[in-house]
Amino acid sequence: MSVIVRFAPSPTGRIHVGNVRTAIINWLFAKRSNGKFMLRLDDTDRERSTQEFADGIKTDLAWLGLGHDIFARQSDRFGRYDEVAEKFREQGRLYACYETPDELERKRKRQLARGAPPVYDRSGLKLSDEQKRSLEAEGRKPHWRFFLEDKTMSWDDLVRGKQTIEASSLSDPILIRGDGSYLYTLPSVIDDVDFAVTHVIRGEDHVANTGAQIQVFEALGAEPPKFGHHNLLVGASGDRLSKRLGSLSIQGLRESGLDALSVTSFVATIGTSDPVAPFASLEALAENFEFSKLSRAPARFDERELIALNAKCLHERDYVSVQADLAKIDADGGEAFWLAVRGNLEKLKDALAWWQIVQGPVTPKIDDPDFCAKAAELLPDVEWDENTWGTWTSEVKQATGAKGKALFMPLRLALTGLDHGPELRALLPLIGRVKALARLKGQSA
Ligand code: GLU
Repeated sequence: MSVIVRFAPSPTGRIHVGNVRTAIINWLFAKRSNGKFMLRLDDTDRERSTQEFADGIKTDLAWLGLGHDIFARQSDRFGRYDEVAEKFREQGRLYACYETPDELERKRKRQLARGAPPVYDRSGLKLSDEQKRSLEAEGRKPHWRFFLEDKTMSWDDLVRGKQTIEASSLSDPILIRGDGSYLYTLPSVIDDVDFAVTHVIRGEDHVANTGAQIQVFEALGAEPPKFGHHNLLVGASGDRLSKRLGSLSIQGLRESGLDALSVTSFVATIGTSDPVAPFASLEALAENFEFSKLSRAPARFDERELIALNAKCLHERDYVSVQADLAKIDADGGEAFWLAVRGNLEKLKDALAWWQIVQGPVTPKIDDPDFCAKAAELLPDVEWDENTWGTWTSEVKQATGAKGKALFMPLRLALTGLDHGPELRALLPLIGRVKALARLKGQSA
């Protein structure tokens, strides 16, 4: 069986770390199984879905490297959904209901007050044709519910193990709203069947939907796919992330300067039995992927941990893999420069500030001009390399008696204008004699 999975966002906003966790789990599983990854836009909500969000989602996935093999958009397939809906009506699986949301809410409250489960009472099913006509004459438009047969639905979940849901614990799901628009439930199942999706992998907030959808698959005469429901993200202190998800959009993370591979490595390993660690590629992540590693407890998302992982990835990156990205931000100072500064970077864009310090002009900070003038005099004349700093500073130490911080800090402030940064042993040869001399004399260079 060749694996086909799908990631099915609604283009009613940009995708965030929560959605991307679903996308990446699907993508890694497809990769691992030599299968196909489908991007499906669940855009049946015509009012809230926009082309701009659809394009944005594609941009975000492309940036993350999560390319797709199959693409579909539900708005192209309404004819197919109408055909199935009609068949279900004929079979009596889809029935008209006329309650307003208020009326439904009151029913629910009454049931709860009686200690009964708030399951829809199927009043719609009991209406005669005449009653329906008179409700429609009042101006009411029917919404349509799917009749769930009274049985137990069960499946062997890829993450959660054996699951069972009693149909009697569920309300007959509404498949079509009063305005004729589809909820995601029916189109999703029809697409999963038509595109031969073998594994439906999504967040555990969909477990109850899966119970109902299994009956929809059966009504279509199809074998349900395998299901896997992964844990959801919570904030660092266990709080719900939903309110903050806007700021945790992939677009936002990209614009903040994080690397795509750090985001994918992070999102794929939090909430698993693997340690959060940098991965060299998506392929390496895929090789490591196992459903059994996903934990049942929520996955904690702490942005500071993501930034720390991003830094760790940069500290280990070799020049060849980073050169093109450095060039894009005008900070390709060559391999020696990269090796000198990578350990000081949190985000790649921070490299630019160090490249500007190497290139100048830098406004030196000089507290003791005599000390710096003496140091300037002692600057070696021979060709500079990584030993220059050591040779030079021991001479300055001998000549001035300064040592430790009192020796190094004035030199750092003069040479870089800053009190922190990469090792001067590596920076000094990059800055070069001419600029170093000028800066020690207090000149901007
Ligand atoms: N559009 C649905 C959602 O984003 C898809 C759920 C599914 O994967 O079936 O929740």
